[in-house]
Amino acid sequence: MGEGGAAAMKDCDVAVIGGGPAGSTVAALLAERGFRVALFEKSRHPRFHIGESLLPANLPLFERLGVAAEVRAIGMHKWGAELVSPAHPRPTRLAFADAWDKSLPYAYQVRRSQFDEILFRNAARKGALAQEGCRVRGVEFAPGGGACLQVEREDGAAESWRARFVADASGRDTFLGGRLGAKRRNARHNSAAIYAHFRGARRNAGSCEGDITIFWFEHGWFWFIPLADGITSVGAVVWPYYLKSRTKPVNEFLMDTIALCPKLAARLEGAERVTAAEATGNYSYACDRTHGPGYLLLGDAYAFIDPVFSTGVMLAMTSAVDGADAIETCLRRPGKARRALARFDRRTRRGPREFSWFIYRVTSPAMRGLLMGPRNLLRMREALLALLAGDVFSRSPIGPSLLAFKGLYYFLSLADPRAALRAWRRRRSSLRDAANAGA
Ligand SMILES: Cc1cc2nc3c(=O)[nH]c(=O)nc-3n(C[C@H](O)[C@H](O)[C@H](O)COP(=O)(O)OP(=O)(O)OC[C@H]3O[C@@H](n4cnc5c(N)ncnc54)[C@H](O)[C@@H]3O)c2cc1C
Repeated sequence: MGEGGAAAMKDCDVAVIGGGPAGSTVAALLAERGFRVALFEKSRHPRFHIGESLLPANLPLFERLGVAAEVRAIGMHKWGAELVSPAHPRPTRLAFADAWDKSLPYAYQVRRSQFDEILFRNAARKGALAQEGCRVRGVEFAPGGGACLQVEREDGAAESWRARFVADASGRDTFLGGRLGAKRRNARHNSAAIYAHFRGARRNAGSCEGDITIFWFEHGWFWFIPLADGITSVGAVVWPYYLKSRTKPVNEFLMDTIALCPKLAARLEGAERVTAAEATGNYSYACDRTHGPGYLLLGDAYAFIDPVFSTGVMLAMTSAVDGADAIETCLRRPGKARRALARFDRRTRRGPREFSWFIYRVTSPAMRGLLMGPRNLLRMREALLALLAGDVFSRSPIGPSLLAFKGLYYFLSLADPRAALRAWRRRRSSLRDAANAGA
């Protein structure tokens, strides 16, 4: 570190690796509380990122950060979700206004390039030293506490930074998780995605224009996310075996895949693809820890399961809010650090856990049937909508109703054992394939 007569080591209280939603949120909150924060982002904003559909539970976080008006200005109002299934004659619409807590009836669809830039500039405004084109190359934790980071700038210049605490918000790069050997493939789930942006897609009318639409099809499901500037994001989340079957260029493969879902193809008739299609391989993983001596793992740097419920940004920002509280306690009241870290750990693990049961089953016929026609028996529909709104950290007492929903799912699966067995076998063989491929 600092070899070859490099410039003197720079100092900060907290070094944040990655300027996405998690990194910019934790940096803003800690800078606001008077910490010297160095935020390192390897790329430059605005930059493309997938993950454009937000949840109502994001909105209080925007208020807290002071960016609500800016996000509203770039966002498309999303009042609910439309579900389209090949096994059902009509689509279903789920409105957030019908959720358990009626106070958050909408969310936004955003271009992540704009959204992430808003959060990043906000961190700088709040006093964080927010640096773009700065890639963290290495971190060494000192036995007595604190860490040294090696940072490389775009022009190749190297810097060393000393930090009292490190927040890893490096997303799917899982900077620390990878280096510490803490990252684990999710043994219970895997999927892959292929996506692009389209101009001229046929959207729903009126206030439903900004709804996300989910289309199930033979190999998985599609998202259809209308953005504010008229562009629509379309992506297929598929079993990895399907992506592996690709023999054509990605653009053609995406269009062939869309053709397998006639109801989506009809919405894209005459639409023009305006970005190159991108494919992402199996991305379901979690680290075996949320923190260690002198560091926290935030957002995707800790875990990511699946985009079906659009939870990624909400979970990333929530973990950053909790992370800021934990780091503040560690640095200002070390005697209370253990308790603060335990709380951070509990909440960070809880988010992915709450959603995973539903995610693992979303392509099964019983779950599809329940989502297409949710009844409000025992307030199950309101509880389900609360979950879909991301309302898992508030005091809404949705637990018992969700338990009833799960019971009903098992009951329906038993009522049609052949379909349930087929879905289970398919999932199992896909997991085995991924394990054999070492994905
Ligand atoms: C196909 C797909 C669809 C998705 N759809 C949705 C959706 O609709 N809604 C939703 O909420 N979520 C969605 N997600 C998930 C969402 O994209 C992520 O959960 C979210 O971006 C996580 O935020 P983050 O801040 O943890 O990480 P990121 O947003 O990935 O930010 C990490 C940042 O760290 C930077 N970085 C990485 N390594 C370094 C380094 N060494 N030094 C400096 N900088 C570094 C990166 O450049 C990046 O800017 C989707 C994910 C996938 C794969």
